[in-house]
Amino acid sequence: MNLKELEIKNFIYQEIDNDLAVGKNGGKLLTRFPPEPNGYLHIGHAKAICLNFGIAQHYSSGCNLRFDDTNPITEDTEYTDSIKEDILWLGFKWEGDEKYASDYFEQLYEWAVLLIKQGKAYVDELSPEEIASQKGTPTEPGTESPFRNRSIEDNLSLFQKMKNGEFKEGEKILRAKIDMASPNMHLRDPIMYRIIHKPHHRTGNKWCIYPMYDYTHGQSDFIEGITHSLCTLEFEVHRPLYDWYLDQILENEPPPEVRTRQIEFARLNLNYTVMSKRKLLQLVQQKIVSGWDDPRLPTISGMRRRGYTPEAIKMFAQKVGIAKRDNVIDVSLLEFCIREDLNKNANRVNAVLNPVKLTINNYPEDKIEFLETQNNPEDEASGTRFLPFCRELYIERDDFMENPPKNYFRLAPGKEVRLKSAYIIKCESFEKDDDGNVIEIICSYDPETRSGMPQSQRKVKGTLHWLSARHAIDAEIRVYDRLFCDPEPDGHKETDFLEFLNPDSLKTLNGCKIEPFLKEAKPLEKFQFQRVGYFCVDYDSTPEHPVFNKTVGLKDGWTKGN
Ligand code: ATP
Ligand code: MG
Repeated sequence: MNLKELEIKNFIYQEIDNDLAVGKNGGKLLTRFPPEPNGYLHIGHAKAICLNFGIAQHYSSGCNLRFDDTNPITEDTEYTDSIKEDILWLGFKWEGDEKYASDYFEQLYEWAVLLIKQGKAYVDELSPEEIASQKGTPTEPGTESPFRNRSIEDNLSLFQKMKNGEFKEGEKILRAKIDMASPNMHLRDPIMYRIIHKPHHRTGNKWCIYPMYDYTHGQSDFIEGITHSLCTLEFEVHRPLYDWYLDQILENEPPPEVRTRQIEFARLNLNYTVMSKRKLLQLVQQKIVSGWDDPRLPTISGMRRRGYTPEAIKMFAQKVGIAKRDNVIDVSLLEFCIREDLNKNANRVNAVLNPVKLTINNYPEDKIEFLETQNNPEDEASGTRFLPFCRELYIERDDFMENPPKNYFRLAPGKEVRLKSAYIIKCESFEKDDDGNVIEIICSYDPETRSGMPQSQRKVKGTLHWLSARHAIDAEIRVYDRLFCDPEPDGHKETDFLEFLNPDSLKTLNGCKIEPFLKEAKPLEKFQFQRVGYFCVDYDSTPEHPVFNKTVGLKDGWTKGN
């Protein structure tokens, strides 16, 4: 499946086809992805990225990356860097250099002056609280500000002084003069500029007045010649305002070649997590998680560290589709996509997370065999490798039971199992420590049952994974669960989302055993630990201390209370 075939069916493609068919915008097509650099990207952004860049791929057009950087208080170059890295990692490339709304500050300022000259903007002196209290309600008109009818000359001079830094923050703002009785609250004299005496991550100290997002976004699209501006649904009610600004600016201009069309789609919501950047920031700042790339977060960098792949994330975005109504997607769909991809591409290896020693009493003391095993039965090209086998092995503690129930097909006293790619063994006895824990299982093996030998096809019910105790090395394994216990942690009015944190979202297992060659595996390399799940090497891993993250289990275990 490539993205072209995948994306083709959503309603936005139909709208684009229609626009192209009637020759709108001179046949041009340009989309954009417009993040605000005030946090790391998350899976919801990935959906918007797949949509906007997917369109560019499908139509062989372009997609701009534009940072909507209008707020110097919350924005930072750490975020612009991470956003670029994440988009590239997903496999997309933006058109030309990345763009910044801050590059348009001069033009936006000139347009603001134009609006003042047209008598359509004014400098107000009300406080934010007063403005809010005079806004009215959707059914009652708001109150006009006493400063609304200043002369154009006064407004021009005051706005100039705002720009020159002659006022304190909050003392003055610039507002559009539209309609305090409009049924659309966004048209009730919205704020265009506020004073912020903070350096901006790109413009430094050049400006102390900053345009509001709503005054910036539509014009930035227009400046770049964006033909289709795809937004999440909450921006539908902002659209008349974006249109209003452009209509005023273009009043005495010839019709432009490209006039941006905004189309809204449903944002992605995922259960058992939060996606608001403010809440993600809170989790990071309060050190509830280890950072923006904590593998439990729905951030792209967190998912990458967890072992998710770009292909799986794109498959997920496709399966979720583009809808016109908000809904909540079950996180198990995302996990399904990860499994689909890793099943095809991750090599199988042996790891024993909770080891118990197993001794084969009829296997020669000093013998070591190297047994061939497939790297990935789903991928013929992946080849084979050789596993050392000797008298002392490790198996999972769970794979032995002293008093097994009837349908237990693993190891138990007197029972036989197959060791994968090796022999059939039989449990002869076992030993316990003083606390009653099994510390050693003693087995015999049948030398005729090795692959290719006469008895190799002999039927036994269970097959276990194992490691040579003389060769296996220790590893730390981090096992993750959902970060929240509640399906909608931020959906409760009375209760803060942090109340729903899952105390067991991270379990660190030490003393796990892995195949020796895995110590050389590089961060983000992915493996299937046979019978256990998918794992990837963490950034913290070293050959002396290998560290793996659990990506996802082999099956959807959540419904069974996993
Ligand atoms: P927040 O409200 O948490 O600050 P945001 O949506 O404002 O996040 P932006 O950086 O403005 O974050 O988002 C960039 C683009 O990604 C926007 O076009 C936005 O519509 C889109 N986007 C953000 N969240 C989602 C989501 N959950 N699903 C789909 N698209 C999203
Ligand atoms: Mg936003």
